[in-house]
Amino acid sequence: MSDLAIIENAALVIENGIITFFGKMQDIPSNNYTEIDCSDKVVMPGFVDSHTHLLFAGSREEEFAMRSRGFTYQQIAEQGGGILSTVYKTRAASKRELKKNARRYINKMMQYGTTTVEIKSGYGLSFDDEIKMLEAIKELQKEEIITISSTFLGAHAIPPEYKNSPNQYVNLICDKIIPYVGEHKLAEFCDVFCEKGYFSVSDSEKILSTGISYGLKPKIHAEELTSYGGAILAGKLKAVSADHLENISDEGIESMKANGVVGVLLPGVSFFLNHNYAPARKLIDSGVPVAIATDFNPGSCMSYSMPLMLTIACTQMRMSPEEAITAATINAAAALNLSNEIGSIDIGKKGDVIILDIPNYKFLTYHFGENHIYKVIKNGTYLEF
Ligand SMILES: [Zn+2]
Repeated sequence: MSDLAIIENAALVIENGIITFFGKMQDIPSNNYTEIDCSDKVVMPGFVDSHTHLLFAGSREEEFAMRSRGFTYQQIAEQGGGILSTVYKTRAASKRELKKNARRYINKMMQYGTTTVEIKSGYGLSFDDEIKMLEAIKELQKEEIITISSTFLGAHAIPPEYKNSPNQYVNLICDKIIPYVGEHKLAEFCDVFCEKGYFSVSDSEKILSTGISYGLKPKIHAEELTSYGGAILAGKLKAVSADHLENISDEGIESMKANGVVGVLLPGVSFFLNHNYAPARKLIDSGVPVAIATDFNPGSCMSYSMPLMLTIACTQMRMSPEEAITAATINAAAALNLSNEIGSIDIGKKGDVIILDIPNYKFLTYHFGENHIYKVIKNGTYLEF
């Protein structure tokens, strides 16, 4: 993760959306290329944000203000805040309204250099509303230039209707929603919020295994609030990624390492909620591939700035700038099963690159709170914002 393979005085050629050359300027194959002068700038792969909940209605700024005044999660929930407030608003919104909101965020995140994003369902929590969310994501995949990976997260929370019979909700997910999602190819991944008071390890295993049988690759929200066992399950199921990991056990780390599970860390959440950070050093030093994502959502991280996440990763999780960049590009691509297509500058990969107006890559994490993007190139096309 520490080796970025920097080339000075470099050139990069993209043809028909695919990288066909990279190397020293003097070695560039002669041809009639449209040229972009990148003197005194940094060219790198576009960011891959491998964990977001960016499809939602409403916002929760009141909750943030209450938290800043010391209110607890429980008190906020009692006053109508928390995830259920987003669920009610998302249920009430049409597919068109949800897409309109999402499009605004997508445009902004591309301006910060994100060229691939994963989007989860999980604010519908009913058959109709979860399908509505996944259909909206599918339409956005076709309509937007950004690459979108789709994840079914029906098991995000227990919906209010099933408060006293959570098992029935697990059955609804396994018997009705997952078969429909799989048959209609509405998602690539299935995810579960594996946590005390949400979905137990055995419920999570049941849901993710059902997903696997319908062609949905497993992901898991694991060990966020307590050390609960989700990371061990991720290894057992050979999940593509286990995300959060703030309270992961040594056994969980072993299980992930042994099974090649990518650890997706979400430093923006710890920062925004003032919670503890995931043990990035321990994970990296143990040989777990680590990615960084925003977890952009209205409750626990209202930011889609990947550069900001990288600086927090360096200052709060003691990752090096090189590790942070690797975590936000090639390792993040691996967290979406896309490392053969994106995440690095390589012959045959997509022409997804960003040009930064900084003298060297170390400025990216060092000069923070500033958008250093000079140009974003997606599939070889230079974007105008
Ligand atoms: Zn999440």
